[in-house]
Amino acid sequence: MYIMLLGAPGVGKGTQAKKIMAKYGIPQISTGDILRNEVRLQTELGKLAKEVMERGELVPDEIILKMVEKRLQEPDCQKGFILDGFPRTIPQAEGLEEILQRMGNISLKVIEIYVPDEEIIRRLSARRICSKCGKDYNLIFNPPPADGKCEVCGGEIIQRDDDREETIRKRLEVYRKQTEPLVSYYQKKGNLYRVDGTRSIEEVFQEIERIIQS
Ligand code: AMP
Repeated sequence: MYIMLLGAPGVGKGTQAKKIMAKYGIPQISTGDILRNEVRLQTELGKLAKEVMERGELVPDEIILKMVEKRLQEPDCQKGFILDGFPRTIPQAEGLEEILQRMGNISLKVIEIYVPDEEIIRRLSARRICSKCGKDYNLIFNPPPADGKCEVCGGEIIQRDDDREETIRKRLEVYRKQTEPLVSYYQKKGNLYRVDGTRSIEEVFQEIERIIQS
């Protein structure tokens, strides 16, 4: 089962990816999570990525493609995976096609989740994450424990640097310019499914399941 979740930041890709992962036992490949981990570990890539991410811009395509290809070679990806936050540009989509060909002509179901901008800004301004394990919280939907410590690992719960309103606007602009063209790219290929992301997490998940099983 090979799935790609496409959509602006804050539409719920990560939330849905985790639900698919739990139900179908295939890993979530989030390039954002991989990059945030590199930043935490202060690797060379992490240092480069930190600045780009804080500006709300995109990490260069070649770096992302190498990172993803390496991750997809790991044993847990051989029966399927969920791409979350990748690809984000046409060159990344083209690079992905080559990677999938090398892996044995894998074909993907591309699921676009869409939500209006005002709702995205509301959701992202309320988003919080654990600084240690990355678990997602949201002041509106899923508030963190009162003591401000992660319920999974006890880590400190913080706001992502790129979830401040100014950076959110920049990220949305980058999405419209660089990532949204992928919608028609996959539409033309005939493997695009669209899901209204304003409904409840459960309703969105049910629709995704229908698509996965179709
Ligand atoms: P995300 O967690 O998916 O919202 O990603 C957070 C940030 O990481 C983005 O705003 C980008 O700066 C960077 N990033 C994540 N995935 C990619 C990607 N596929 N291509 C380029 N930059 C990325």
